[in-house]
Amino acid sequence: MRARTLLSGLKVWNLGKNTWVNRLSNGVSSSVSTHGPQVCVVGSGPAGFYTAQHLIKNVINTFTQTAKQSRCAFYGNVNVGKDISMEELRQAYHAVVLSYGAEGNRTMGVPGEHLDGVYSAKDFVGWYNGLPSCRQLSPDLSCDTAVILGQGNVALDVARILLAPVQMLKKTDITAPALEALAESRVSRVLIVGRRGPLQVACTIKELREMVNLPGTKPEMVAADFEGIAEALKDVARPRKRLTELLLKTALEPPGEKEQQRRNSARRSWGFLFCRSPLEVLPDPSGTRTAALRLAVNKLEGSGEGARAVLTTEEEVVPCGLVISSIGYKSLPIDPAVPFDPSKAIIPNDMGRVTQAPGLYVSGWLKTGPTGVIATTMNSSFDTARSLLEDMGSGALDVSTRKPGSDSIQALLDQRGIKPVTFSDWEKIDQVESRRGEAVGKPREKLLTVEEMLEVSRA
Ligand code: NAP
Repeated sequence: MRARTLLSGLKVWNLGKNTWVNRLSNGVSSSVSTHGPQVCVVGSGPAGFYTAQHLIKNVINTFTQTAKQSRCAFYGNVNVGKDISMEELRQAYHAVVLSYGAEGNRTMGVPGEHLDGVYSAKDFVGWYNGLPSCRQLSPDLSCDTAVILGQGNVALDVARILLAPVQMLKKTDITAPALEALAESRVSRVLIVGRRGPLQVACTIKELREMVNLPGTKPEMVAADFEGIAEALKDVARPRKRLTELLLKTALEPPGEKEQQRRNSARRSWGFLFCRSPLEVLPDPSGTRTAALRLAVNKLEGSGEGARAVLTTEEEVVPCGLVISSIGYKSLPIDPAVPFDPSKAIIPNDMGRVTQAPGLYVSGWLKTGPTGVIATTMNSSFDTARSLLEDMGSGALDVSTRKPGSDSIQALLDQRGIKPVTFSDWEKIDQVESRRGEAVGKPREKLLTVEEMLEVSRA
């Protein structure tokens, strides 16, 4: 049985701010007839699109084609919980798939976290990527040392943005205000701090390699941190082994002549600091700005991926004017009637079937937690779609009664004066951003406010 699908952009930033959606091009909006099973997907990021793609037809291989399928309708700028309720969606559709991602972030929970100069990576990334809600962040980049807490791929993304030469950034789709601020930045040293050791870093090799090769920068590592690491590698799986070998080479091997020259001319540096946990952000004499970070020195208990960081009584203070906490994203509950596991920050599920909630499904980070690369999200979203189709086939999901689908949702939105952004509206935003980018030699120049996006989409 094949489902008809509505993709709902849950949050305004789905309007052209998502890298994946940004790649979409040319086309017209689509409509959905109300015969047959009706499925609503909440969220138009990769998880939402991959789920919809699988529900409609397995061979469709781009999000554009999915959005333009006659059996799929795209409703952007609709806030579930505000413009439309979960209950209304459940009434209108045989099934609802929740794919709204992980919009919250884990906090450090240490004193001083509120000081000026402390940011979450989520907000910092949102700022340079043009998320309307992060536009006002305007981070102060007048200090020389920045500390990033966490050693995952997001931490490395942030480190690269802070240290990359402006000439390089100019050719990316980073926003104009961020580019301006980074051109004036005085940050010349970035420390990437992990609570565990070199064998437990959470980044992947591709991202580490980009960091190692970043023009104008040199690594700053402590050789003693790598004692015994080479010996431990024999018991380690291949991806971790290759990653650690690159770390070891960067930290310990004398550079060749060319690399030495590169390092000699570098004016900026980056380094990993291991086995440290944040205890407190210390203020400057004014009491409002970040001046340093007090860290606990940890020891490791156990070995390999599962090693645990245990605080010792030893401490150290690292002077820094900028602290970016990059210790992971977190999903948030959407409605009291939808089950939510606060300890794991996910919707409890079995292969995407929400526990004890027939007709409700979940995909993406909301299903698994914020882990894995894009291929992981794709496969896990396909699994959810497969579960849904299986349930339709077996009768576990009752699709025997007729449901109005998007017709009734459209009527409710009309009544409330809400005009959703269609896929062809979204394409207008995409075209304007690309055109503006072309004029300044960038892939795109992003629109920075929802108002401007809506104006362009309705022109
Ligand atoms: P992540 O990979 O889970 O890394 C989180 C980091 O924070 C880890 O180093 C973790 O250390 C540390 N951490 C967690 N809780 C902590 C605490 N209480 N105190 C100190 N440190 C703590 O998360 P992420 O970097 O936010 O990335 C999220 C996902 O997006 C990942 O799957 C990542 O691969 C993916 N991503 C991919 C790309 C790409 O493919 N280019 C780019 C960006 C993000 P422990 O290991 O000790 O917990």
